[in-house]
Amino acid sequence: MERKLAWESYKDKQIKEMDKLATRYCKFLDRGKTERECVDVIVEMAEEAGYKNIDDVIKSNGKLKAGDKVYSVWMKKSVAMFNIGKKSLEDGMNILGAHIDSPRIDVKQNPLYEDGGFAYFDTHYYGGIKKYQWVALPLAIHGVVVKKNGEVVNINIGEDEKDPVFCITDLLIHLAYEQLDKKASKVIEGEQLDILIGSRPLKDTDKDAVKANVLKLLKDKYDIEEEDFLSSELEIVPAGKARMAGLDSSMVMGYGQDDRVCAFTSLEAMIEAETPEKTTCCILVDKEEIGSVGATGMRSRFFENAVAEIMDRTGSYSELKLRRCLANSKMLSSDVSAAYDPAFASAFEKKNAAFFGKGMVFNKFTGSGGKSGSNDANAEYMAQIRDIMDKNKIAYQTAELGKVDLGGGGTIAYILALYGMEVIDCGVAVLNMHAPWEITSKADIYEVKKGYVAFLLNA
Ligand code: MN
Ligand code: MN
Repeated sequence: MERKLAWESYKDKQIKEMDKLATRYCKFLDRGKTERECVDVIVEMAEEAGYKNIDDVIKSNGKLKAGDKVYSVWMKKSVAMFNIGKKSLEDGMNILGAHIDSPRIDVKQNPLYEDGGFAYFDTHYYGGIKKYQWVALPLAIHGVVVKKNGEVVNINIGEDEKDPVFCITDLLIHLAYEQLDKKASKVIEGEQLDILIGSRPLKDTDKDAVKANVLKLLKDKYDIEEEDFLSSELEIVPAGKARMAGLDSSMVMGYGQDDRVCAFTSLEAMIEAETPEKTTCCILVDKEEIGSVGATGMRSRFFENAVAEIMDRTGSYSELKLRRCLANSKMLSSDVSAAYDPAFASAFEKKNAAFFGKGMVFNKFTGSGGKSGSNDANAEYMAQIRDIMDKNKIAYQTAELGKVDLGGGGTIAYILALYGMEVIDCGVAVLNMHAPWEITSKADIYEVKKGYVAFLLNA
């Protein structure tokens, strides 16, 4: 049952491919730090690969046939790509799914205030974070402010070398005796996560002069008023680029790898698997970190609607055929897995843990406690997946999130399983999951991409 390190099988050719993929991946991470930015990059890459917007096909009353490639974007935050295969859609699709939202800190709707000569944005964190990890490091602001006339103002401050960065302050160690005695969940609390954005007063202003100066800067640079924050989505993320990590550059360190490492590799595989027998599909969705809710989360009907539109364009839509298509589909629900960390060995059960460099991770089930909230894939499906991976020489391993009863987590798997399709959780092992900077193995990224291609063409 011992799995080998993927590295050991690599010749120069594979090393080169792996390095190239990791470099492209870092660029993807740098350009897509929010779900909206990710959708923009994904659409750009898809269009370069010949994918067309389904809305344009519908508007021009166009038809779809085998070999056609289309994508459907929902509310600028989720996207589904389809590569129409030779077989009938009723026979089902091979689907890759991952999420493109990541834990972060969102700006509140009434955020701006001044205190002690500083201006701050008040915030509300998004997803599961260890709050103490987000202080005393450079932060960037990404997002949109939408004015009442509908104009969308894009904001991205803190990534360009010439940009200023932002910070959440921490208490100096010299005065931290009480703080250091607190529980880790209380060291920094939600309402303390306010982001420092200025200290310079506007001249000749009596009250809240620093805040007034911030408002003036926002007016001058972006033509936005304080009230425009009411209709904004501003996300605070770590400032800076993804980097190779380790003296041997064997790893990638970057923000938002949960779950953009699976989103990126799924997208690459989707583009690479050019002429599939069955229709292939790649769904990259928002809101997983807060329960897959909302119109752009996986629980929304946008995906089902997109499949209906695709079937309609191929001239084969009926409610029954749509249901057959979904029920006959097979899916890899891709999300990151907890990598075995020797520094926290007691959190893992080593026989069923994911190790760096051992390739694609399959989780037959996730959930917490007695598998609560899990999808728990069928043994028959797992057997088929094993066969595909072995035949295509993909390094893979199986794992659980950690020791039973220590915690747990969920994915989007159970939502697609509602259609009665075969679904299994899989993905890439990550160190520091949900921390501002997460770490993955280049070998795992490479194996997962190859594994996705094998799945799309053979499942
Ligand atoms: Mn995830
Ligand atoms: Mn997560």
